Amino acid sequence: MLLARTLPELRDACAALRSRYPLLALVPTMGALHDGHLALLRAAPPVTGIVASIFVNPLQFGPSEDLSRYPRDEAGDLAKLKGAGCHLVWLPDVATMYPPGDATAIEVRGPAERWEGDARPGHFRGVATVVARLFGQVRPDLACFGEKDWQQLQVVRRMVADLLLPVEIVGVPTVREPDGLAMSSRNRFLSAEERGRAPALHGALRGVADRLSAGTPAGPALTAGRAALFAKGFDVDYLELVEGETLTPLPAPETGSRLIAAARLGGIRLLDNIAA
Ligand code: AMP
Repeated sequence: MLLARTLPELRDACAALRSRYPLLALVPTMGALHDGHLALLRAAPPVTGIVASIFVNPLQFGPSEDLSRYPRDEAGDLAKLKGAGCHLVWLPDVATMYPPGDATAIEVRGPAERWEGDARPGHFRGVATVVARLFGQVRPDLACFGEKDWQQLQVVRRMVADLLLPVEIVGVPTVREPDGLAMSSRNRFLSAEERGRAPALHGALRGVADRLSAGTPAGPALTAGRAALFAKGFDVDYLELVEGETLTPLPAPETGSRLIAAARLGGIRLLDNIAA
């Protein structure tokens, strides 16, 4: 497995991979890797050179979000990536990603509005900007993103379509713990007692989906889902039925629609979503 920490190293490493593989896939991450991240690597088609990036992107953290508290474990991450068959790891520093004089950012509207866009002002601007720069640096043929961050996946798809970027976006289903909790680097911050209640988020989404399938109208089904979370001690930021690509609220399920939720347990904000 190759490592690159500077742009010249990345250029040489990508050239080496391109001489061996007809396609390059990029898996962008912020590190603290778990099986959800590794599933993104496995989603790349065979005969693909796989590049994983690890960069804790300051631009996507709000002023009230503690960037310094973000978990970091470079040695552990590299061992996991090697075990998962990664070919190259791109580890840029902040000055490489945002060089002096940097004056360009990418603002996606549409799917970036509402939900996480409201809860975390500037977050998707940071995500879109860093993803566009990663695409410019690595020039991948495809890039893998998790459905776990459904809204982020739609924001990236929208940016790629609008800017005509020559990269195929691959969405990868959410990897869950055996009890249904979506894997996340934030889960480690839950106390043992909170961890026991955390799967209720997925359970509430499943409950709403079941009610919708049984013909309950969306309004009462969503109200029941929020009540179930409240009863488990969650503070619900949102639990909604939305159109899958645009994230606009829907009065009833339709092809491609999604149930999305964000709820806080203790101080930890958990996200999840499922098809509806
Ligand atoms: P992060 O390091 O949290 O920025 O996540 C990097 C990528 O991994 C994003 O595309 C996430 O959507 C994806 N990801 C995170 N958790 C999961 C999961 N449980 N299942 C699938 N993909 C995930």
